[in-house]
Amino acid sequence: IHPLSPEVIQEDIQYEVNLRPRTLDEFIGQEKIKENLKVFISAAKMRQEPLDHTLFFGPPGLGKTTLATIIANELGVNIKTTTGPVLERQGDLAAILTNLSDKDILFIDEIHRLPRIVEEILYSAMEDYKLDIIIGQGPNARTLKINLPRFTLIGATTRTGLLTSPLRDRFGVINRLEFYNIEELKQIVKRSAHLLEIEIKDDAASEIARRSRGTPRIANRLLKRVRDFAQVKGNGIIDMTIAADSMNAMDVDILGLDEVDRKLLLTIIDKFNGGPAGIDAIAAALREDKETIEDVYEPYLLQEGLIERTSRGRLATRLAYKHMGKDLPQGLF
Ligand code: ADP
Repeated sequence: IHPLSPEVIQEDIQYEVNLRPRTLDEFIGQEKIKENLKVFISAAKMRQEPLDHTLFFGPPGLGKTTLATIIANELGVNIKTTTGPVLERQGDLAAILTNLSDKDILFIDEIHRLPRIVEEILYSAMEDYKLDIIIGQGPNARTLKINLPRFTLIGATTRTGLLTSPLRDRFGVINRLEFYNIEELKQIVKRSAHLLEIEIKDDAASEIARRSRGTPRIANRLLKRVRDFAQVKGNGIIDMTIAADSMNAMDVDILGLDEVDRKLLLTIIDKFNGGPAGIDAIAAALREDKETIEDVYEPYLLQEGLIERTSRGRLATRLAYKHMGKDLPQGLF
């Protein structure tokens, strides 16, 4: 994984503990989702019922896990966190569910990667708080019915299209997280700088925000790296020059694109004459897997208007040529 990719890397984890907002009011951006969640949380509390099962989807690093922990905190319940691929057998899920208390939250990250056999028992668990597990084999096989505490499932995934429809249909609330705008990212950078006791100038915070690919996880990571530069090459204070120079040195360009993003654009421009290029061909040229390109890299390039997705494949836009310093081919306006 590239150090500035939006996916989690080990060194994030120690920072997540103190940088993660704990309440909805501390959580910056995603205004619509917050407004709705406030209503659902109050209503569930008033009725003393568990919150409806909730799904968050969107690219990595936008705050899905953070929102799940905030919800638990606001409801005053426990949260148990796991991920789809870890739950290999029905018994793994059963063990977790039977250990929950009334109204607790189970958070399953990468829920689209739950094995089918586990997903199937999740349906009745979500619907009736019951588990039907088959134990034994052949003539000795029998079904074990287990009553579960009333719980809330919070699922996270990159795209809803990755979920089977029976699973998707069992979520009462489905929220799509959007990339953050620069103003929001700037607030996040300043908040994190404050918590980490880093001194940062206003324009430097804006510059980090601009280069964060719309993603809080990247904003926090850039801040931390820029701080290293400020300490080694400057006086510890992050100003505009330090911020810009250090991000240039890390190959994060003025749009926040990293090496992989740029390689992707160059592949379409140089190898495929601007496209259309099929996702499989692009993946092969970049030696990345297709899912990572679709879920991690493409969404931001699409949103920034650097590529377009058509039925015949991906196209590099005029903006992409300009950004990469390439001459426009004939006919592209
Ligand atoms: P996801 O689960 O979508 O991959 P996370 O919830 O793990 O993303 O968020 C990544 C990091 O970004 C967290 O460490 C958190 O501190 C920070 N973060 C995410 N959203 C926000 C936000 N709205 N305000 C402040 N920090 C945020």
